[in-house]
Amino acid sequence: MALLVQKFGGTSVGSISKIQHVADKVISAREQGHDVVVVVSAMSGETNRLIDLAKEISTAPPPRELDVLVSTGEQVTIALLSMALTEKGHSARSYTGTQIGMLTDNVHGKARIRSINSERILSDIKRGCVVVVAGFQGVTGEGHITTLGRGGSDTSAVAVAAAINADECQIYTDVKGVYTTDPRIESKARLLKNITFEEMLEMASLGSKVLQIRAVEFAGKHNVPLRVLSTFEEGEGTLINYDEEGGMEQALISGIAFNRDEAQITITGVPDKPGIAFQILGPIAEANIEVDMIVQNVAGDETTDFTFTVHRNDYDCSLKILKKNAVELQAEDVSGDDTIVKVSMVGVGMRSHAGIASKMFEVLSKESINIRMISTSEIKISVIIDEKYLELAVRALHSAFNLEEPSPQNEENSLSET
Ligand code: ADP
Ligand code: ASP
Ligand code: MG
Repeated sequence: MALLVQKFGGTSVGSISKIQHVADKVISAREQGHDVVVVVSAMSGETNRLIDLAKEISTAPPPRELDVLVSTGEQVTIALLSMALTEKGHSARSYTGTQIGMLTDNVHGKARIRSINSERILSDIKRGCVVVVAGFQGVTGEGHITTLGRGGSDTSAVAVAAAINADECQIYTDVKGVYTTDPRIESKARLLKNITFEEMLEMASLGSKVLQIRAVEFAGKHNVPLRVLSTFEEGEGTLINYDEEGGMEQALISGIAFNRDEAQITITGVPDKPGIAFQILGPIAEANIEVDMIVQNVAGDETTDFTFTVHRNDYDCSLKILKKNAVELQAEDVSGDDTIVKVSMVGVGMRSHAGIASKMFEVLSKESINIRMISTSEIKISVIIDEKYLELAVRALHSAFNLEEPSPQNEENSLSET
């Protein structure tokens, strides 16, 4: 008998019949003797609908009020699921973030969890009750409702699992687990039995929205066994763990991630002198805009070109700031492009193998895909390309690195030992 946290995402609770199905799954775990805490998202599309309503009133709604609004989506689902469980003869109780003391900081829209009061959950569990918790939401010490950022119910689930010391945190979604790439882009994507926390963290941060990055971070930090699996199909799903040797699939490349939310800004002909990067990016940081990749050219004529990427939502604002500062920066030109994407290959095996980057560039060049920017770290290589080539690039790389092969050694995937 285990203590499980089961999280069901938006598509898993997207209709009454799906909520009934989730109730049946929870009951089946109960009947196998497990104690279950369920964390749910809002019904699919609901969070977007609520945000759109707010936008009809204001282009910049007060963040506190937006949180009060969007957190209602999850409150609907917890009540409906608890009703469904009760109707099927199982004792269940729903709780909002506030009710279970999901304490966060006061950064509305992307609050970070500080602590959870596990007493209430554990005492209900002891009474044989299924506890149903609203994901995505928390409360500040002063009692203001907060939300954890899009996809934040994953993080709620992991935090609850850590607080009650659950045996496993199971993230149920609309695919069978974590694949070598988004199965909606590449139908030949292969389901991974395992992936390391490190790789999953990279995949999530590089755009694989199957898990919210902070959920992976939290699980890694607090040692929460984390599994992604399907609500609608049977299977073991994907276990995210530390084991880098043992039974792990020792792939050179574990997966390909991509991010469509990218935009690029270029500023050319600025004086090549100390402090120029700060002068360019300082005002961007002051506007609370996160910068991702940065490239500064080596210049021969005492001027240099500078390119960086931001989230597409921040594109207009970034461009406006730089255009405003262009004269002061003595720039020749400021330009931008919000039709770019980032494609990244991730794998712990990259550490010990040379040649992955050049093979990646060769594959893209064979498809005549121009690389605009490159960035690498120990276990990933990212490139910025035109968005129209996204699917082509992902599929070409997936095939060239033989990611669809079920071989545990990914033999063809490996380059010769160097
Ligand atoms: P939920 O509503 O359950 O939280 P999400 O839409 O947030 O579901 O995440 C599941 C989706 O993540 C899948 O439908 C899939 O399209 C996408 N996805 C992106 N990359 C991957 C990947 N590498 N493996 C599996 N799914 C992925
Ligand atoms: N409902 C929230 C969202 O759509 C949180 C979640 O689904 O995880 O982002
Ligand atoms: Mg999600």
